[in-house]
Amino acid sequence: MQLYQSQTLKIHNSLSGKKEVFKPLNEGHIGMYVCGPTVYSNVHLGNCRTFMSFDMIFRYFKHLGYKVRYVRNITDAGHLVDDAEDGEDKIAKKARLEKLEPMEVVQRYTVDFHNILQKFNFLPPSIEPTATGHIIEQIEIIKDILDKEFAYEKNGSVYFDVSKFNEKHEYGKLSGRKLEDMISNTRALNAQEEKKNPQDFALWKKAEPQHIMRWPSPWGDGFPGWHLECTAMSTKYLGETFDIHGGGMDLKFPHHECEIAQAEASNGQSPVRYWMHANMLTMNGKKMAKSTGNNILPGEIFSGDNNILSKPFSPSVVRFFMMQAHYTSILDLSNDALLASEKGHHKLMDALDAIDHLESSNSSDFDIESWKNDCYAAMNDDFNTPILIAKLFDAVKFINIAKEGKQSISAPDKIILKEILCGFVFEVLGLEGKTDEAADSDKLSGVVELLIQLRKDARDNKDFATSDKIRDQLASLGIQLKDGKDGTTFSVL
Ligand SMILES: [Zn+2]
Repeated sequence: MQLYQSQTLKIHNSLSGKKEVFKPLNEGHIGMYVCGPTVYSNVHLGNCRTFMSFDMIFRYFKHLGYKVRYVRNITDAGHLVDDAEDGEDKIAKKARLEKLEPMEVVQRYTVDFHNILQKFNFLPPSIEPTATGHIIEQIEIIKDILDKEFAYEKNGSVYFDVSKFNEKHEYGKLSGRKLEDMISNTRALNAQEEKKNPQDFALWKKAEPQHIMRWPSPWGDGFPGWHLECTAMSTKYLGETFDIHGGGMDLKFPHHECEIAQAEASNGQSPVRYWMHANMLTMNGKKMAKSTGNNILPGEIFSGDNNILSKPFSPSVVRFFMMQAHYTSILDLSNDALLASEKGHHKLMDALDAIDHLESSNSSDFDIESWKNDCYAAMNDDFNTPILIAKLFDAVKFINIAKEGKQSISAPDKIILKEILCGFVFEVLGLEGKTDEAADSDKLSGVVELLIQLRKDARDNKDFATSDKIRDQLASLGIQLKDGKDGTTFSVL
C-alpha cells in the first residue's frame, strides 16, 4: 500500500478558484507540466521561487508514493521582448547585443539555470524539452487548428481566431476575463496589422530577413508563437488531458489562457485538470526589477557579494525562507527575514542531530501519531508548508525539552520521530543539513579564531615577531585580519 492511498490531498485549482480533492487521471500516476524559463539571462530569484514551489510539490507527490512524470520546458525560441506579438525574440536580441550565436546565449543561461537549481537542491524534472527541439510538433498543431478553422493565415503568419473560438468555447475562463470586456478595453487595430482582432494571437510568425532564428514551414520561413510550445510539449509527453499544469501567477494571462484555447481548438477537450499558480517574491516591500535596482541574483545571496544583505546566506537557508510562506502568498525578502530563517534552519538541524542522543525511557510525553497526522494534514491542505514548519517546530521544542531530561521519549518513538522529521525536512522540503562545504567553512573559522587568540596572547607578551608572523602568513593565504575596537575579525579573500 502506498502512502497516497491513506491521504486526501486538496489542491487549489486556479480554474475553478476552489480547493478540490485531487484525483489523478490514472491511479498512482501523475502528469505535471510547469512552464520553464526563457534562457536569455541569469535566472531571477522570483522565478526560482516558482520553480521551488513546484519542486516541493513534485517531492511531496513522490513522498506519497506516486509515480510522477514531471515536464518542465526550456524556452529557447519564440518568446518576444515584452511578451509582445511583434518585436524581437528575447534570445535573438541578447545574441545581437552580446555578439553571440543565439544557441550560445541559450547554452550559457541554461547552464546558469541548472547550476542555481542544483545549489537549491532541486530534483531534476523527468523531461526538460526545448521549444527548438519541437518545431515539427508545433507546426503539426498549427495545421490541425487551421483545418478546424480556429486560425487563419495572413502574409506568411498564422493567427489564432479568438472570436471564432469563443463561439463554442470560453476564452478567458482561467483568468476570469470576458472576451466582450477585453474587446471594449482595447484599442482598434491599425491598418498595417494582420490580425482580424486585437485579441488574436500568433501561432506562427513570418521571419523578417533580419530575424536569425527561423525554420521552414508550410507558410514560409518563420518561428512559432510563444504559447504554442507548451501545448506541443505537454501534449506530446503527458497526453491531450493531463493532471497538473503550473507556472507563475503572471503566466495566467495570456500565456495559459492561450494554451487552453490552442489545446481545446486542436483536441476538442480541456487540456488540464488542475491549474496551479505560484505567487511572486518581493524585496523590502517592493517589486523586484533589474531596472529599479531592487534586485538580487541567487548567486549574489550565496556569495554575499551584494549591497542589500549583511552577510552571505546558504542556499538551504534561502530555501527554508521560501518554504515558510504558502506558495500562493506573496513573499517578501529582506535581511531580517533571512537572518530569522537562518536561526530557524540551524535550530531545526540541531534538533535533528540531537534525537539520537536523547535518552530512551519506557513511555513518551509526545503524541507522535497525532503530530504526524497534523504534519500530513498541513501538506494535504494545498501544500501548506508554513503550517507544516510550525508543526515541525512543535517537535523541535519537545526534543529540546527532552534533551534537558524534563520530558521523556520511548526508544520506538525516537525512531519514528526521526524518520518522520527527516522525511519532511529533507525529502519534502528539500532542505540540506550540514554539507561538506559548510562543515569545512566552520572548521576554517575555528582554526582562524584560534590563531587570532594565539596572536593576541603573543602581543600581550610583547612577542611581536610571533604576532606579525601569524598575521602575515594568514595574509599570504588570503585571510585578512582586521583589528577593531571590538577585537579582531577576519575575511577570506
Ligand atoms: Zn508555458
